[in-house]
Amino acid sequence: MKADIKSMTPEELGLFIESIGQKKYRAKQIFQWMYKGIYQFEEMTNLSKELREKLEEVAFIEKLEIKRFQKSKKDGTRKYLFALRSGHAIESVFLKYNFGNTVCISSQAGCRMNCSFCASAMTGFEDNLSPGEMVDQILAIESDTGEKVGNVVVMGTGEPFDNYENLCRFIDLIHTKEGLNLSMRAITVSTCGIVPKIEAFGQDYPQVNLAVSLHAPNNEIRNELVPINKKYPMNLLLETCVKHTKRTGRRVTFEYALIRGVNDKKSHGEELAARLASMLCHVNLIPLNTVDEREFKGVERKGAEEFLAILQRKGIQATIRREMGSDIDAACGQLRLQSKV
Ligand code: SAH
Repeated sequence: MKADIKSMTPEELGLFIESIGQKKYRAKQIFQWMYKGIYQFEEMTNLSKELREKLEEVAFIEKLEIKRFQKSKKDGTRKYLFALRSGHAIESVFLKYNFGNTVCISSQAGCRMNCSFCASAMTGFEDNLSPGEMVDQILAIESDTGEKVGNVVVMGTGEPFDNYENLCRFIDLIHTKEGLNLSMRAITVSTCGIVPKIEAFGQDYPQVNLAVSLHAPNNEIRNELVPINKKYPMNLLLETCVKHTKRTGRRVTFEYALIRGVNDKKSHGEELAARLASMLCHVNLIPLNTVDEREFKGVERKGAEEFLAILQRKGIQATIRREMGSDIDAACGQLRLQSKV
C-alpha cells in the first residue's frame, strides 16, 4: 500500500524519506509543496527526477474531489460535497465572517452519536477521516476560492472526539509553521460531550477553543436529544468543563439549539442559567435548523431573543448565532448527503 504522506507531520515525513534512502531535508520541500496545493510529485520541481519517480511508486498525496458545490446568494457561504477515496462523501463549508474566512470541516463520514435532531446522524457511521482528509478540505477550499483560511471549526459531520488521534494530528498539521501556520486559538473543536476526551484535550491542546453541544438544561431532556448523555451525564460533563477552564484558563462555549416546545421554555432558560451560573462560559443559541426527516422545529427569532434575555438577566454571557447559508442547507446540522457519490 502506498504511504499517505499528507497525514504525516514534517518529522514523520522526514523519517519516511530517510527510509526510502533519501536525505531528510527533502521532506521539508515535499511538505511545503503539499501545503501550496500541489498534488503531483512531477510538479515538485526542486526534487530530482529519480526521487519524484520513487515517490510516485511508494506514496500518494490525499486529494478530495469536489462532487458538488453551492454558493449562498445571501452571504457568500459556500458548501462543498467532497468524494473520499473510500467512496463515502462529506461536506465542508466556507464562511465569510467579518473577522476572517472560516472553514467548517467534517471529522468523520457519518456519525455514531445519533443526536435526535441532527441530519448528520442519519447515514449512521461510515468512516473516520484521516488527518490528510481533514487537511485537504481546507486546501481544496483555499484553492477553489483563491482565498486564505484564517479560522477552522471542527463542526461538520462527525464527532471529532470519536476520532481523537486523527483529530490531534490534523491540528498539529494545520498549526505547524510549514503547514497552514494557524494559531491554536484560531481553531475550535465541538463535541457532544465525550468526557474522557475533553479531559485529554485540555491537556493536549489547552489553547484550542472548546465548544460543547449542550442543548438542554437537564438530564431528562438531554438524554432524549443527545444520547451520549446517558453515558456521560450533565453533572459530570459540566464538572469536566469547569476543570477544563481551570486547567486552560479559557472559557468553554456551550451550543444550545433552540427546539420549539422541547428546550425553549422560560423555565428551561432559568434552569440552564442556574446550572451555568458560576462558570466561565459563553452560550451560543442556535435556532434549530429544520431537518426534513426529523419532526423537530426551530424557534422564531423572537423566541430566541426571549431565551437570550433570560440568560443575560441571570448574568450568563450569551449570543444568538448568526445564521449563514440557510438557503443552501449549509447551516448547522444540515450537512448531509443529498446525492450519493
Ligand atoms: N459532533 C460534534 C460536532 C458536529 S455538530 C458536536 O456534537 O458538537 C455541530 C453543531 O451543530 C452541534 O452543536 C450540533 O448539535 C449542532 N446541530 C446539529 N443539528 C442541528 C440542527 N438541526 N440545527 C442546529 N444545530 C444543529
